[in-house]
Amino acid sequence: MWDVMILLGAPGAGKGTTAAGLVEERPDWKHVSTGNMLREALQSGTQVGLEAKQYMEKGELVPDAVVMKIVAEHLRVGPKDAVYLFDGFPRTDEQAVLLDQFLSESGEGRVSRVFLLEVAKEVLVERMSGRIVCRDCGAVYHLTNMPPKQEGVCDSCGGELYQRADDNRETVLNRFEVYEKQTASLISYYRERDVLVPVDGLSKAVAVKAILDAVAGPVGES
Ligand code: AMP
Repeated sequence: MWDVMILLGAPGAGKGTTAAGLVEERPDWKHVSTGNMLREALQSGTQVGLEAKQYMEKGELVPDAVVMKIVAEHLRVGPKDAVYLFDGFPRTDEQAVLLDQFLSESGEGRVSRVFLLEVAKEVLVERMSGRIVCRDCGAVYHLTNMPPKQEGVCDSCGGELYQRADDNRETVLNRFEVYEKQTASLISYYRERDVLVPVDGLSKAVAVKAILDAVAGPVGES
């Protein structure tokens, strides 16, 4: 049975960083980032990548059906008895419905918990403007808050660090708007289903610990 957990939060809330921290503690968990999957598709020039390009460059959302397709494929080929940690998916109510439908129709899984990473907006903008990412392993650094040991080089794998094309100021602001308009309503979607767990996202260590504690305890907001 796929045990799906979701990391929800505004752009820059630390979904990727927290997911990486969780997987360090629980190496059996599968981190699924639709953003990473789409960037890989774009780099390798696949049909999905070509379709996604125009939306990603503007900070807009890729159509729901395209994203659901890659997620479904990923689950189908992956192990069944695993925890899947979704980061950046679902992003719209429609994607949440499609995911629930897919899980119930296949009879193979459920969304067990949704962690909402809460961070003040000023912190988010500051984080994103200095964010740099490893081209090879996806590790995330920050030019001032968390610089790599050697400039431009990933500490973990030696890969090249770059600034994401959609981390420029104009696109960042658009991504916030998209989040407010299309993603924020997911908070009530999952609250109604009693699986939402708000988590303080200011520090990675605190967020990781809160999530691991919540997984060990009963479901639902306390
Ligand atoms: P992320 O790395 O999660 O910030 O995603 C980067 C970009 O990929 C987003 O701004 C969207 O254009 C696209 N993207 C990632 N995940 C999704 C999704 N679940 N639905 C639609 N578009 C997505």
